[in-house]
Amino acid sequence: MNVRPPMKKLKVATTSLSGCFGCHMSLLDIDERLLELAKLVEFDRSPITDIKTCGPCDIALIEGAVCNSENVHVLRELRRNCKMLVAVGACAITGGLPAQRNQRDVGEILQRCYVDMPGAQGRVPDDPELPLLLDKVYPINEIVRVDYFIPGCPPSGDALWKYLTDLIGGRMPRLDYQSFRFD
Ligand code: SF4
Repeated sequence: MNVRPPMKKLKVATTSLSGCFGCHMSLLDIDERLLELAKLVEFDRSPITDIKTCGPCDIALIEGAVCNSENVHVLRELRRNCKMLVAVGACAITGGLPAQRNQRDVGEILQRCYVDMPGAQGRVPDDPELPLLLDKVYPINEIVRVDYFIPGCPPSGDALWKYLTDLIGGRMPRLDYQSFRFD
């Protein structure tokens, strides 16, 4: 599908909070359409540009759940700076796999992983530079207002392309049920 470039390129930021980067890899799955995307948008903060802070943007794509204090800081910065905030994938929308730890006390998990497990290092890391873990893992809409949700684990490249080009074209994004993927 050819998409007419907007008069002015939109700015897009992407970030992975606590996720596996699978949703970003899916974005790369749009293959040669990446060249078309590059004509339509300019990337701000993103692993694609390696820019670490977010300036004013039109669209933010957020992968991953909110697990620690740094995730909260990054997410709030993106919300402040971006007009449309999109939750991409199951982790951002529901907490996904990282939220499996919500069944346990976070102190117990740290003790088990770093002290009790055979071969563990014997103490819980406490370097002040490490972001503090939150008591629970949260979906992003429990921290900031979210404008759009793209379900899937990960959403397919085709679904991301359709959604993005709808947003860039000023249309209400629509995906049919067959586009959803959880594999
Ligand atoms: Fe990875 Fe799936 Fe979470 Fe995306 S939704 S970050 S692919 S686990």
